[in-house]
Amino acid sequence: MLIPVRCFTCGNLIADKYEDYQNKVRSGEDPAKGLDSLGINRYCCRRMLLTTVETIQQVIPFYEAIQRRHQEVQSELE
Ligand SMILES: [Zn+2]
Repeated sequence: MLIPVRCFTCGNLIADKYEDYQNKVRSGEDPAKGLDSLGINRYCCRRMLLTTVETIQQVIPFYEAIQRRHQEVQSELE
């Protein structure tokens, strides 16, 4: 879902570097060099950024559908 704020293993703060990392990878930079330039050297922290999958855009439509249905039920009750 969202990137964890800290590394699960060592507790290093990683969430603040995720957007920079994403921008570097999207611009075509090698992910390993991007992680090095952000100062993420431990492999426990590197795996946090490498293995995160953003699913928020896939989940949002379900919440919108629930909200629409809730509004329909409310309007039927009134
Ligand atoms: Zn770590």
